[in-house]
Amino acid sequence: MMEPTHDEAHGGALGARLNWLRAAVLGANDGIVSTAGLVVGVAGATTDRGTLLTAGLAGLLAGSMSMAAGEYVSVSTQRDSEQAALALERRELREQPEAELEELAEILEQRGLSPDVAREAAVQLTARDALRAHARVELGIDPDELTNPWHAAWASFLAFTVGALLPLLAIVLPPAGVRLPVTVASVLAALVITGWSSARLGAAKPARAVGRNVVGGALAMGVTYAAGALLGAAGV
Ligand SMILES: [Zn+2]
Repeated sequence: MMEPTHDEAHGGALGARLNWLRAAVLGANDGIVSTAGLVVGVAGATTDRGTLLTAGLAGLLAGSMSMAAGEYVSVSTQRDSEQAALALERRELREQPEAELEELAEILEQRGLSPDVAREAAVQLTARDALRAHARVELGIDPDELTNPWHAAWASFLAFTVGALLPLLAIVLPPAGVRLPVTVASVLAALVITGWSSARLGAAKPARAVGRNVVGGALAMGVTYAAGALLGAAGV
């Protein structure tokens, strides 16, 4: 049940890759739900294919760019604070190496090593790469693997776009008579897959995650369809 311990046994690389994969699945999920809500809402008001395509495409671009910008800002901020912490650590190592060695040994001791072993481990880690040892043990970051904000932004842009394409194509490709059922069915099916995958990647129970995800998506489409139909009926 506790799969993360298994991942940790292989070091951080696999865990990091799983986090990226999970973020991609969640980004795609966002693209599916928000674009599905948008196009189903517009379909409640009009049967015009050009209008549906315009609305869906605008929603896709607005959503993917807003996700990318948000990700860029948040990862940049995180990176700034990690770099500031590293700079401070570097200065402390230069100005008070003895106190820093003591600190490292204490942290290792708190993590379960005996005082002698902790001291010896701290000495060896410091001899090899003091900054890296402090970054990993004290700050929990790897100075060589800080997340690149541009990579993160592109990844969210792509993930959202892939997800958004599904409801967009489902609403504009089929004949007018079946476009709503086709869209609703394919969106709900896709939400089963994304809900299941993100739960598996996060080592959570899939059944509940799938249920929440499908209900959330169905609500989004139901609410926007009702709003679109009301506006359409009112001749707005
Ligand atoms: Zn330190």
